[in-house]
Formats: sequence, C-alpha cells, structure tokens
Amino acid sequence: MIMENQIERTSQEWYREAERTYTEKHQGCPWCQGSHRVFCQRRDSTILFYCQGCDFQVSHDVATGRFAMLPGIDHEIPDTMLDSMHGLPHTLRS
Ligand SMILES: [Zn+2]
Repeated sequence: MIMENQIERTSQEWYREAERTYTEKHQGCPWCQGSHRVFCQRRDSTILFYCQGCDFQVSHDVATGRFAMLPGIDHEIPDTMLDSMHGLPHTLRS
C-alpha cells in the first residue's frame, strides 16, 4: 500500500511536470527534454500527455483523480531532472 501511494505521488509529479514543459517548452517532454513532440489528448475525463520521441506518457483522470505514468525509453536523465524529481520510484526494485 505504501508503494502504491508512492507511485501515485510520483505519477502526479510527472503529470505536473509534463503540463509545465508542454506549455513552457512548446510541447516539450519532461522525460527526454525535447520540444515539439508531446501530444495532449483528452478522452472523456482523462487527459493524456504522450511523447512520440521517447514513448513517455502520463495521464490524469479528472473524474477519479487518478494519475498514471509510463517511463520513456531515453536513458539519459539530466541532473536538473533528478534534483526536481527526487521522488522517483527507485524503491520498486527491492
Ligand atoms: Zn520524450
């Protein structure tokens, strides 16, 4: 249950980051840091950000308040990212 809460919180942080980079970096991706590659889709009550550059995606169901995140496939994560994203689920492996 603790792990589930942690994932939820992390997904929510990623969603907020995606929302911010989408606006500030012109459809930018919070995972691979690229611009002009993120799509924002709305389906019913769910808002989804999807990056075609690295397959990162994060969604928010407004009706239920649920967040979901799928990691991208870019292995290079900038240091600035790690600083702001200290809540990454690195405990998942243990
Ligand atoms: Zn990306």
